[in-house]
Amino acid sequence: MKNIALLGATGSIGLQTVDVIRQHPEQFKLYAIAFGRNIKHAIPIIQEFKPKKIVVQDQETKEKLQHRVDGARIIVGNEGMVDISIDRYTDVLVNAVMGSVGLQATLSAIREHKQVAIANKETLVTAGHLVMDEVRKHHVTLLPVDSEHSAIFQCLNGEHEKTIHKIILTASGGSFRDKTRDEIANVTVKDALNHPNWNMGAKITIDSATMMNKGLEVIEAHWLFDLAYDQIDVIQHKESVIHSMVEYIDRSVIAQLGSPDMKVPIQYALTYPTRLDLSQTKRLNLSEIGQLHFNEMDMERFPCLQMAYDAGRKGGTMPTVLNAANEMAVELFLREKISFLQIEDFIQRAMQEHQVIKSPDLETILALDQQTRQQVISYLN
Ligand code: NDP
Ligand code: MG
Repeated sequence: MKNIALLGATGSIGLQTVDVIRQHPEQFKLYAIAFGRNIKHAIPIIQEFKPKKIVVQDQETKEKLQHRVDGARIIVGNEGMVDISIDRYTDVLVNAVMGSVGLQATLSAIREHKQVAIANKETLVTAGHLVMDEVRKHHVTLLPVDSEHSAIFQCLNGEHEKTIHKIILTASGGSFRDKTRDEIANVTVKDALNHPNWNMGAKITIDSATMMNKGLEVIEAHWLFDLAYDQIDVIQHKESVIHSMVEYIDRSVIAQLGSPDMKVPIQYALTYPTRLDLSQTKRLNLSEIGQLHFNEMDMERFPCLQMAYDAGRKGGTMPTVLNAANEMAVELFLREKISFLQIEDFIQRAMQEHQVIKSPDLETILALDQQTRQQVISYLN
């Protein structure tokens, strides 16, 4: 029996993690949860699983929740997320919070030798060197939840690092994959939130439409698998059946396939190195699908992908700026303050105005994250 602390329990990955736990009550126990403000989604989870600790984003949410739970301790804010990540009864941390706010909890859990399943890619983009330093120091395996990285992780199973030629991440293309740049100039938030293959949280759905999601995943892969950027390729594959591939030096290519269902990589991160049944997930039926399609990525059509490669190659604090500017710009787009194409303008401007600091420490990263968000807000005027 593994005790799980779940950050971002009320989100898309969080709710699917809850569903995986529900399917295997003998293996997993939901020991603690953290969420932001979504009490409506949290209450049924709390009633069903009776977690011992509950973390909420602010005091107001705590007050609203307090009289509706008994037998659980409610903690507020980032300290709460760190608390449940390092709790002595926590065996596994599932980090499914949205954004760089998940960073300190990840670092703390690794230092306490917890098993960490990471969906929270912004953590690795904003401070990948700090996270991986701790991983090496404490001999912890960071288990990827992102479907592409779970695929690569599975394709690498039992292979020798030195025999990897490159990895190939697949990209569905997002909500506007068949549209030209002229056609996306005036798209609405509603259009952008309509993803063809995956039902995900709002921020990552917008990231998929701008292709920044794939850019963040390139940086995530660089850190998780210790690969140079020249060894990380992206290919458009609209069916999302091949979740990613590894090409070895002998020209052999290994791919991982499956129905597009995040419960598969979530569960694998919890059961690794073994596997369990996942009965409610659709089996892959290739003859039903018939054809798979692949296209080269067009960096001019999707400049956010190019910006992410540039930020990753520059290194130091540039990925921190890329990530924070993107988080803020996407938030402004979701609040209908800026247009879809202004997202990339704002990120580009923040990157151009930034002087890279090499090997930043945690304090520098946290300060720069906040500063970049303020800077992006100032572009509104
Ligand atoms: P959602 O927006 O659906 O959920 C985000 C979760 O984080 C919610 O539970 C939210 O709480 C919580 N949260 C946000 N801010 C805070 C905060 N300051 N303190 C505490 N909790 C907070 O996101 P997703 O589930 O889509 O994505 C989560 C992560 O997983 C992201 O990093 C994303 O890139 C990654 N990912 C997601 C995939 C998907 O299919 N959705 C696929 C691969 C990766 P509340 O809503 O209660 O305020
Ligand atoms: Mg992904």
